[in-house]
Amino acid sequence: MSAAAALRAKFPLLVANPGLHYFDSAATAQMHRSALDAVVAHETGARANVLRGSYRLAEAADRAYEAARQSAARFLNAAADEIVFTGGTTAALNLVAQSFGCLLEPGDRVVISQAEHHSNFVPWQMLRERRGVELALIPVLPDGTLDLASLARVIDDRTRLVAVTQCSNVTGARTDVAAIVAAARRVGARVLLDGAQAVQHGPQDVQALDVDFYAFSGHKCFGPGGVGVLWGRAELLAAMPPFLGGGGMIGAVTEEGYTWAEPPRRFEAGTPPIAQAVGLGAALDWMMGLDWAPIHARESALCAALIDGLRRIPHVRLLGPEPSSARAPIVSFDIAGLHPHDICQVLDAQGLALRGGHHCAQPLLAALGVEACTRASLALYNDEADVAALPAGIVRAIGVLK
Ligand code: PLP
Repeated sequence: MSAAAALRAKFPLLVANPGLHYFDSAATAQMHRSALDAVVAHETGARANVLRGSYRLAEAADRAYEAARQSAARFLNAAADEIVFTGGTTAALNLVAQSFGCLLEPGDRVVISQAEHHSNFVPWQMLRERRGVELALIPVLPDGTLDLASLARVIDDRTRLVAVTQCSNVTGARTDVAAIVAAARRVGARVLLDGAQAVQHGPQDVQALDVDFYAFSGHKCFGPGGVGVLWGRAELLAAMPPFLGGGGMIGAVTEEGYTWAEPPRRFEAGTPPIAQAVGLGAALDWMMGLDWAPIHARESALCAALIDGLRRIPHVRLLGPEPSSARAPIVSFDIAGLHPHDICQVLDAQGLALRGGHHCAQPLLAALGVEACTRASLALYNDEADVAALPAGIVRAIGVLK
């Protein structure tokens, strides 16, 4: 059995759909059996609310939830009390924009890039409206990579936060995080990394990355939907006021007012996504046990083969940088005269699942000169058969649609 086939066998949806060529892991990766099993085991063996009950079932739920926090901490090489469970990357980014954002003053600058997903774009535009902060953009070059030559100009001494994606969900371009961190540190700014597209390619080390905040979603790293993680440095979380008020996040409440709990509970108001967090913990534990070097080599080879296959098709314009280790296996393309939605529909009829549209990155697409594009994203369970099927499917789609 090939390495990809062995991995694929652990994904129940792929096992149930042997003819499916799944190319949309950048939107949602398939769920690993260990995550699914952990959710079922939790819901059938330890379902209770957390941090509220003192009966044994509730204590079992507490233990499972906190064990998931420990797994997330190990996955990021961080301390468990710096891990906040959220509803996903979007919720994590909004939390920072609200809670860290309210420590900013009018005239302070937040820097993002033109390559951001809307969830790392709109919360900062909303903060600009709310607090009068200035929002500046690191531009992209024609291949979609960040223009590092602009950093000294864009990240100026009014900059308090630089919030960028670790990897573009459209072009697969990986950000030169060290260059961003160096430019931010020169002016004393904090750095937030949107890790949504990085986490499905292996554990991360926030200490080595030397950032201050890190956000990701469970459904993009083989875990359940509806859960995500915000990691923040302890001293930053401690200085930030809560975003949502409610049960679980308080010290005490009187008719006159309330006090806050310490982080991370300060930021987990209400009943959290408990079973989802437990499932995420299982997915992360599984990922931490993998040997990633051969997986990365295979993903890169498949990405290069896919690009090569697509390049041979007339009318296909590829977006993004050349294949290299600085590119995640995400390949977006435009076919002159055809709408991505039509292309995706014809591909779907052939068992090829791709996403077409603006990919929640309209400013990036505008910079690249397209309104919409078709995206193929690969994960560790894709194989040579997938990569061979796609160019052939596109040739057929062009034949049907042109
Ligand atoms: N950031 C990036 C780079 C993404 O690709 C996505 C989702 O595609 C998000 C943020 C938002 O993630 P979620 O919808 O899970 O909150």
